[in-house]
Amino acid sequence: MIFRLLFLVLIWFGVCNAFAQTYVPGESYFDDNGYVEYLAGNLPIIITAPHGGLLTPASIPDRDCAGCSVVNDFNTQELARAFAQAVHARTGCWPHVIFNKLHRRKLDANRDIVEAADGNPDAESAWYAFHAYVETAKNQLLPQFGKGLYIDLHGHGHAIQRLELGYLLSKAELALQDATLNTPFYVDQSSIRHLAGNNVQGLSHAELLHGSQSLGELLAQRGYPATPSESDPFPDEDEDYFNGGYNTARHSSYQNGALDGLQIECNRNGIRDSMHNVLRFADSLSVTVMDYLGRHFFGSADGFLCGMSSTPPEISLLDRLLVYPQPYCYQFAVKKSRQAPPGNWTLGMYDFYGNLLEMHALDDNMELTLNPSPPGHVWLVLWVDGEMKGMRAIFRFCR
Ligand SMILES: [Zn+2]
Repeated sequence: MIFRLLFLVLIWFGVCNAFAQTYVPGESYFDDNGYVEYLAGNLPIIITAPHGGLLTPASIPDRDCAGCSVVNDFNTQELARAFAQAVHARTGCWPHVIFNKLHRRKLDANRDIVEAADGNPDAESAWYAFHAYVETAKNQLLPQFGKGLYIDLHGHGHAIQRLELGYLLSKAELALQDATLNTPFYVDQSSIRHLAGNNVQGLSHAELLHGSQSLGELLAQRGYPATPSESDPFPDEDEDYFNGGYNTARHSSYQNGALDGLQIECNRNGIRDSMHNVLRFADSLSVTVMDYLGRHFFGSADGFLCGMSSTPPEISLLDRLLVYPQPYCYQFAVKKSRQAPPGNWTLGMYDFYGNLLEMHALDDNMELTLNPSPPGHVWLVLWVDGEMKGMRAIFRFCR
């Protein structure tokens, strides 16, 4: 038990160090073992490639958990890299990209830690590094842009050659009437929950899923059929379809926050079957994603392209408070962002019944580690110079 705690503490220092570092857009950074790569960015876009790794170190035994998949998604690491390069070629800016470089036999970076690492400490540390880098990317882009898009990139082996976009809604849910899909009950289960209530044209949730300006339809119009989209609004009951996994649930606005996300499962023919097709699709995806961000998130490219931002979005004081990881499982850390205005900051941590658990002063550069006891969802309440500035829910999520 002590060793496990010590291990977690070491991991935690790793996370904090990763956070304290300055990242140069377009440069790659690695965890200690070189199993996870973070290509730093300066756009409000995060891509993860959890199933495209090729490393098979003998020191990590093959995962053999019951029912666990060990099959890689062919050419998805290459596709994520090609996407980043295509975006850079067109804009001069970089998306944030996180690669799991381990083969899925060693680590499945789209599962909870138990199934992901199958108990191996090196695989567990790679899992922590993978998610810490996603948090690092979030913690850079959200204070700057106020929102962003996360894509978890995969490849499927299903018979129908189309992109499967996963918004955490099932086939049956996608087939519901638009009026039903637009009710809070379904919006709250969606990985584009934040966008559904905050988009430039005031489109509804259903329109964003399968309307004429949905991501699926924009891709279909560029020659890459996708579901859901206007032309293929939902998969039929007897058709195979992936609706999003652990990463989409963990890192999208489904939990809370302003980072919308989805899983993109790429078919093989015409996309992943040759490097020529990988590059061609990466270029189309880059154009489509920039178009999508302009239409629905920022109104125009000026709002999000690096170095072109004329009027940075208004950021609330609460957004100057960095909390990570969020959701947490064992503990979380809190610190002021570099842009936080001066003043005496005080934080109260309350349980969900409103009982005060702890009260702390938060000085500049101070990193406060909180271990709610008993562990559970908590509220953080922020005071600056004695005036209450707001509260934020911190969710506990272990699976
Ligand atoms: Zn996959």
